[in-house]
Amino acid sequence: MAVTNLKCRECATEYPLEALYVCERCFGPLEVVYDHSRLLSGGEDGVLDVDGLRRRIQAGPQNIWRYADFLPVVDGPPAPSGRLASRTGLPAGCTPLIRADRLAQQLGLAEVWVKNDAANPTHSFKDRVVSVAAARARELGFQVLACASTGNLANSVAAHGAALGMESYVFIPSDLEEQKVLATGVYGTKLVAVKGNYDDVNRLCTELSAERDWAFVNVNLRPYYAEGSKTLAFEIAEQLGFQMPDRCVVPIASGSLFTKIGKGFDEWRELGLLGNPACPLPRMNGAQATGCSPVASAFADGQDVCRPVKPNTIAKSLAIGNPADGPYALDLARRSGGGVDSVSDEEIRAGIALLAQTTGIFTETAGGVTTAVLSKLAARGDIDPSERVVLVITGEGLKTLDAVRGTFETYEIDPSVSAFESRVPEAVTV
Ligand SMILES: *Cc1c(COP(=O)(O)O)cnc(C)c1O
Ligand SMILES: [Zn+2]
Repeated sequence: MAVTNLKCRECATEYPLEALYVCERCFGPLEVVYDHSRLLSGGEDGVLDVDGLRRRIQAGPQNIWRYADFLPVVDGPPAPSGRLASRTGLPAGCTPLIRADRLAQQLGLAEVWVKNDAANPTHSFKDRVVSVAAARARELGFQVLACASTGNLANSVAAHGAALGMESYVFIPSDLEEQKVLATGVYGTKLVAVKGNYDDVNRLCTELSAERDWAFVNVNLRPYYAEGSKTLAFEIAEQLGFQMPDRCVVPIASGSLFTKIGKGFDEWRELGLLGNPACPLPRMNGAQATGCSPVASAFADGQDVCRPVKPNTIAKSLAIGNPADGPYALDLARRSGGGVDSVSDEEIRAGIALLAQTTGIFTETAGGVTTAVLSKLAARGDIDPSERVVLVITGEGLKTLDAVRGTFETYEIDPSVSAFESRVPEAVTV
């Protein structure tokens, strides 16, 4: 395995691969470090060239564990049989990348692809991060999974707990969408609704993680959890024939997904898996709801850090007022020539409708945010006509049905042709 240790993102102090997440010296966040040269230059896995490494990836399982060489698990890739079924419990990833010509045409763009991560087991990209965190939690000997969630993470932790036979505790803000609450409780988790917003839930879980020997996937296992998001970059690149797109539009809550997609492209680029290692990263565009846009505001103001806000938006899965990875998201947006924009609740609803009506993909409010930001960039003329753009859709529309309630008409009629003809307008007569 290429994974070597944890390291502070601020002062570079190194730590062992344990359930640690914050630097003892400077309180900076810890990140997983690898020695990828081991993959190419022999070591335990034998000598591989870049083509050999590509072939090894392509021969892997149809889930995120095809990228096990780039993930923070130490026991090696799961066996193809059921031997390591405890790790693959609920396989995530290998979601469709769909060319969206009707959407592109509507926006005046040449080439748009939709990465539909609603096609994961619990219908959001969170299954990627939870798969990795749960696998590492297992390796570290934890019995209980837990999380502080804006909704989708609770769904995923509850389901992975059930698949792995682990007990779970999930903490959510008490005002979450009913669909997300129901789709979580059904797995037999301990569902704790906290009277407060996500930032209150997160503070509570940080306190609890110091007292309980539980694997809080996005608190004490956060360095491992975060690595799961890199698999979105790996998949996009692999699905494009081991190439990077020119631009990615990605939603931002804590900023972890956004920054780790950048890290994923970086790792493969440096290894030469994506052609010339000197080729630039995709322009990374972050997407937030105006009702919770600390990263977009800091970007617009030229700041390096985010001022915390109190969230008020229909995009509840993105409602983190104090984003842990805000500074790193700002840095990536600037360094890659991208940006961070925000859109109103009305624009979010319009984004959901636009994506649904041009691609057949029904996304939750977070996907409405992402689609609306793409529309905004296109309308502003920020996107060159020659660009290949990937729109990252992270969640499923059936989880946030209130966002589309009342946005279209249903024709209720008696069961007769005359009732149909008098009530329903017929646009196309074929
Ligand atoms: C959690 C989540 C995100 C963003 O997560 P980060 O905290 O920024 O990693 C985006 N979309 C959906 C649907 C989510 O549930
Ligand atoms: Zn440090």
